[in-house]
Amino acid sequence: MNYIIVLASGSGKRMGTSTPKQFIDVLGKPLICYSLQTFNANKNIDEIIIVTKKKYFAKIYDLIDKYNLDKVHMLVKGGKYRQESTYNALMALHGFANKDDIILIHDSARPLVKNDDVNRLIECAKKHKAATLGSKVFDTTAKVTKRNKFVDIVPRDELMSIQTPQAFTYSVIYRAHKKAIQNSIKNASDDAQLVKLINKNFYLVEGSKTNFKVTTIQDLDLLEALIRK
Ligand code: C5P
Repeated sequence: MNYIIVLASGSGKRMGTSTPKQFIDVLGKPLICYSLQTFNANKNIDEIIIVTKKKYFAKIYDLIDKYNLDKVHMLVKGGKYRQESTYNALMALHGFANKDDIILIHDSARPLVKNDDVNRLIECAKKHKAATLGSKVFDTTAKVTKRNKFVDIVPRDELMSIQTPQAFTYSVIYRAHKKAIQNSIKNASDDAQLVKLINKNFYLVEGSKTNFKVTTIQDLDLLEALIRK
């Protein structure tokens, strides 16, 4: 089985809108529905788990009905940090998922994820047990201080930016999260970095630049332009 956890429990503070970014209307459809419809249509994805705040459960049930998201298997209450939101979903899957099932984890704030990339990611995770989508860095990239003072150039051919989905066997990601808790790590910005805690390596699968994370209001203009195209 291949499960996908869609994280939608953030408050989107950097966006500065009263509606969290995952529910913002983008050309007549809530932002979260773009990736949910993509995953629902993917024959390699068996079940979808959505993580959100309890107060949005009713809203999500409406969206499931409206957009025929028949693969949604359960809703799970989000945590204080992204890491805790993932952990809650992993705990909810305990007893359902087998240790070798593939668990994909996706930020709902990345609406333009493509199934070709997701399918290549799943293949890589089946082979190596841990993998993530990423994209090459083409700009000259600098290391800076907190106050943006230049420190050094980082060779760009050694860099990739990490995206989601990320994919792991259930056993690997479950052990990684347990280890993070043991080590008092609470606020990791993604899940792939946690697998290093159990001495497991992960692989990057090159995805599409358009799979960017909507973070600021300006990103919405770019998103709308790409969808129209
Ligand atoms: O804050 P950031 O943009 O890094 O969040 C990435 C994803 O994690 C978003 O889709 C957001 O909804 C989700 N998230 C979550 N629970 C939190 C914080 C973020 O599900 N407590």
